[in-house]
Amino acid sequence: MSNSEELITIVGTSYLELIVPEFLEKSFEAYSKKDFSKKQFQVSIYENAFATAGIVLTAIGIESYRNRIYALDRKIVKKVASDISSIFFDKNDKFPVEKFENHLNEIFVVRDVIVHNHVYNVKVKFDEEWEMTGHTQALIKGYGDDKFKKLVNTRAKKTKDLLLNIQPSKIGFEDLFVVLVFFECFVGISEKLLGRKYVPFNFWREVEEIGTDDLSRYLTYFFNKTTNKNFISIGTKLFLELKALYEPYLPNEKDFFINNRCRKCGEYGFRQMNNIYYCKKCKNEINFYSNT
Ligand SMILES: [Zn+2]
Repeated sequence: MSNSEELITIVGTSYLELIVPEFLEKSFEAYSKKDFSKKQFQVSIYENAFATAGIVLTAIGIESYRNRIYALDRKIVKKVASDISSIFFDKNDKFPVEKFENHLNEIFVVRDVIVHNHVYNVKVKFDEEWEMTGHTQALIKGYGDDKFKKLVNTRAKKTKDLLLNIQPSKIGFEDLFVVLVFFECFVGISEKLLGRKYVPFNFWREVEEIGTDDLSRYLTYFFNKTTNKNFISIGTKLFLELKALYEPYLPNEKDFFINNRCRKCGEYGFRQMNNIYYCKKCKNEINFYSNT
């Protein structure tokens, strides 16, 4: 008798476990030094390089997971976003399939603007002191496919739902953060609707010598450290929208960033690394061991 085992050779998913978190940290390093009160038409090249690379690797990882799902189910692949969305919809016909497909496609739109390097013509205005007073920018003709046209707000230069920047040099930490919040939803939905073997995600990361295997708490670390009030308020609105859409399709027993809120006031970022349960807004605190 001989033994055989079927192996599905997927490469891209390790990027999400091993490389993307490092890029998130590096882009955050530059991001956290910024003056958020100033107008900016681009982020620093350091923040930009790590964030854009992180988004591209996340998109590659998602595509790899699609390939794994379809290989296991012996289905023929077509387009990544519709393939993943339709397989979730097949398992539960209440699943918000159109929204999910758009959200995935928004990430692929951003991947495209980075990988194909969309070029903008940027005009900057300065005052007498050479302080920037404003700028205009236009995408040079010839860039942007159908999904770009459908999913991008060209005036705001952001995708319509996830509000991801689509002007390549403006893409930074916040964009990568939102992409990872969505990615975490994707992993959770896969686990609940398809089962564990389809989208394995083995996460372990240390920050400030504290380790965690929980992506939501890891993301919370950065969310609680950002000083950009604008991102906190716009981000909170977005995360609540994602929560309303996807929470019913996530495993109950696990933490996800979109439901990591204070029970008293609703502020995001309550459950933190190192078993800290604390609300930075209303100071609500739970001591895990004493049950109070
Ligand atoms: Zn609170």
